[in-house]
Amino acid sequence: MNILVVNCGSSSLKFQLIDSNTEEVLAKGICERIGIDGRIVYQKGEGEKEVTDSPMPTHKQAIQLVLNALMNEKSGVIKSLDEVGAVGHRVVHGGEKFASSIILNNEVIKGIEECNDLAPLHNPANLIGIHACKELMPGTPMVAVFDTAFHQTMPEKSYMYGLPYKYYDEYKIRRYGFHGTSHSYVSKKAAELLNQPYESMKMIVCHLGNGASICAVENGKSVDTSMGLTPLEGLVMGTRSGDIDPAIIEFIAQKEGLDITSIMNILNKESGVYGISGVSSDFRDLESAAANGDERAARALEIFRYRVLKYIGSYIAALNGVDAICFTAGLGENDPVLRSTVCNNLAYLGIEIDKEANSVRGKDIVISTPDSKVKVLVIPTNEELAIARETLALVK
Ligand code: AMP
Repeated sequence: MNILVVNCGSSSLKFQLIDSNTEEVLAKGICERIGIDGRIVYQKGEGEKEVTDSPMPTHKQAIQLVLNALMNEKSGVIKSLDEVGAVGHRVVHGGEKFASSIILNNEVIKGIEECNDLAPLHNPANLIGIHACKELMPGTPMVAVFDTAFHQTMPEKSYMYGLPYKYYDEYKIRRYGFHGTSHSYVSKKAAELLNQPYESMKMIVCHLGNGASICAVENGKSVDTSMGLTPLEGLVMGTRSGDIDPAIIEFIAQKEGLDITSIMNILNKESGVYGISGVSSDFRDLESAAANGDERAARALEIFRYRVLKYIGSYIAALNGVDAICFTAGLGENDPVLRSTVCNNLAYLGIEIDKEANSVRGKDIVISTPDSKVKVLVIPTNEELAIARETLALVK
């Protein structure tokens, strides 16, 4: 069965058509600048990327263009929409309602709408994509796969904030965690690669991209993760501050005469390694700036790595030990210096990195030495494949 995986943002829409039998990506791409002017980037298999400027005032038009591209005589991969067996939608926030993926129907859509408050920038956009697909492919089963679902196994001691309990009761203010699809995919894959039973392992997954989070996985379940009610908590990220003393908000408000919206914008978009360095949110830029003597860029990298290390250390304590540490996402997969710096600080645990393996890119690999007491792995994440697998499991 072919599964269309859709990740719909407010002005962009990423898609992949995956053959679930072979798990091959038949075609993929992105619609950008929806509602502005519109551009579709389409790639058949491993072929050349085709970029076409095409007006797409609405998400429905964007999805129609995706379907047209998939059925195009020359570069398409299917002849009719009957060849799309199901659609898997990435949905950012499932609140406490959704602890696993679910087949979409009107009641589920209502449930997702009720979580809009918790992710006002993301869930409404995800829903627009769901409605557009429903209109254009009315008979095709659709599944929602939530970023938060994997973390619904966290115990209360991990997810409760030290706030008056009524805020949890009344508004469901608690820690939810994100990147769940990635943490789940990577931890499963690591157990497979190590040939150890997933259900009886202690693992720490470091998803380090522009957005970054760490997850403690015990016996196949998320027991703690660094993001919270929103993705702002935890690590220092590309442009997000991560953990700060909440009193800083009042302090800046008074010093700069700013309102809460402006400060949240600063914490989400102007902070992190970008804010510290003043150079860039992209770690490649930071590394080259640091190599050219930019001290703030070097400091930003050091601060980022230190926070990663602290979270790993705290999760080792929470898990009372660790069997494997996994690195994934843009930076986790591509930055050997980050991995070795972090792991060198964990040498007391008997962790030893194999220099040669640590320099390999783009494949699942164990980068610790055979004697290392804790295994360290790099597993390129594949959220789309994980969404396709979840979708297939529910519709077949
Ligand atoms: P993601 O959000 O997973 O797409 O990751 C994007 C981030 O990964 C970028 O902002 C870069 O900072 C980082 N990244 C990607 N490739 C490299 C690389 N070769 N070296 C260092 N950082 C990288």
